[in-house]
Amino acid sequence: MSQFIDGKRCEAISGRTGVVRDPSNGEVIAEITLAGPEDVDKAVQAARAAFPSWSNAAPVDRSNVLTTLARLLGEHAEEFAQLESRQAGKPIRLAREFDIPGTVDNVAFFAGAARNLEGKASAEYSADHTSSIRREPIGVVGSISPWNYPLQMAAWKILPAIAAGNTIVLKPSELTPLTSLLFAELADEAGVPAGVINVLTGSGAECGAVLLRHPQVDMVSFTGSTRVGRTVLEAAATSAKRVHLELGGKAPFVVFDDADLEAAIHGAVAGSLINSGQDCTAATRAIVHRSRYADFVQGVADLFGQVKLGPTAEESTDLGPVISPTHRDRIAAMVDRSRSYARIVTGGAIPGGDLAAGSYYQPTLIADAGKTSEVIKEEIFGPVLCAMPFDDDDEAITLANDTPYGLAASAWTRDVYRALKATKQIRAGCVWVNDHIPIISEMPHGGMKESGFGKDMSGYSFEEYTVVKHVMFDLTGTAAKGWHRTIFTYPQVD
Ligand code: NDP
Repeated sequence: MSQFIDGKRCEAISGRTGVVRDPSNGEVIAEITLAGPEDVDKAVQAARAAFPSWSNAAPVDRSNVLTTLARLLGEHAEEFAQLESRQAGKPIRLAREFDIPGTVDNVAFFAGAARNLEGKASAEYSADHTSSIRREPIGVVGSISPWNYPLQMAAWKILPAIAAGNTIVLKPSELTPLTSLLFAELADEAGVPAGVINVLTGSGAECGAVLLRHPQVDMVSFTGSTRVGRTVLEAAATSAKRVHLELGGKAPFVVFDDADLEAAIHGAVAGSLINSGQDCTAATRAIVHRSRYADFVQGVADLFGQVKLGPTAEESTDLGPVISPTHRDRIAAMVDRSRSYARIVTGGAIPGGDLAAGSYYQPTLIADAGKTSEVIKEEIFGPVLCAMPFDDDDEAITLANDTPYGLAASAWTRDVYRALKATKQIRAGCVWVNDHIPIISEMPHGGMKESGFGKDMSGYSFEEYTVVKHVMFDLTGTAAKGWHRTIFTYPQVD
């Protein structure tokens, strides 16, 4: 059983099955059922049926169940960390210290935010009327999430949607559905009514594509690649659904000549290798002033050499595998092609020995790739950092922006004016100064350009999951309103 529909686990009507594997050794860790069109319809109907009551619940009631959920999640943190580590191939330290506490905090944030849906104050913008704003939920949200941060991505979709009074059908990646299912079960235990959260395990083609096109789905929210994001937009167009897209990234990491080089080197290593580089905001293009370039490249290579690949369950492991052998081979092929036009400073190989059964790849630093080359232009989504030099600040900003993506970026400098200029000129949804990666529940996450549109986390996500309604009251109480004269004139009464 793996579908979670209408408050309970159930088999897929489709009768199809699949497996979830541990990327660190290829072992099967769970058997799942795979949802098809009838399962999608069942889940959407459950969400539709739950909508009237949930959308009319008092904000405090929605807030209270989320508060309980945050507590329960905290109590089950270790269980979630173990499961997330195994299904996604994350070092247990990362799951324990980043994925799970981040999600608990997100739930707690939205428990509070559910009581703070704001709009303009009511006012008399015309002398004859009082105007007010109602911020209303949209309806049934169909969400699709990726495999890199399975629980966090599920939470980023579910929480603002249900806090605002929507109901949701979530399809996590079929590679990593287990913590999303556990989250839905815990939400049920916390008191989230049946049908408010439904989770379908199934493939993108058989389940996701059907969900996107379902006529009873009012909005689609998607996190994943820009390639699939385009198909989401096309599908949504057929019935004018609201769309929220969080897509790929190719984040620049700009090191100016006055930067604290040690801090930049540490930041580049952590920022590029987090989650084995399978992070849409990961540092991927280190754009470094020529005067510091050689030292930067050497420093990053030295630190990459100290990062310990290992079994994900071991506390001492720094870096786990990538999600699958297929994905690892794609990364390896891209790095191999770059040998003809760039320099592999360190890494560039699939480790053998004890790690050979998993989909591991060495931390890899590529230097001197041309600005139009494949590794600079395309998402690699693995533990690979590319470094390139620049000569003046304008060139650095031009290189940073020379990408179709615009999700995240960082600028490394001690000069406040340079920092201000970089944060203004770099086109990305988030620009860090002297750091790269940290996120917090109170602040939005989302891109520009082909990284998509719409925000996850923070109060800004309510802009996505609510519709603003203008309500206008007549103040005159008369049949003969002044503005009627533009259409007809009232008969004169003596
Ligand atoms: P994909 O786009 O391949 O898949 C994302 C989700 O879409 C999965 O659940 C997948 O299902 C589903 N899917 C695939 N094809 C279809 C389809 N035709 N119709 C409907 N759904 C479909 O991305 P990945 O899972 O490979 O994730 C990595 C990508 O996500 C990277 O590009 C990364 O940058 C981006 N990402 C963006 C983030 C952001 O916040 N901007 C955050 C995290 C990742 P299944 O896998 O089961 O087939």
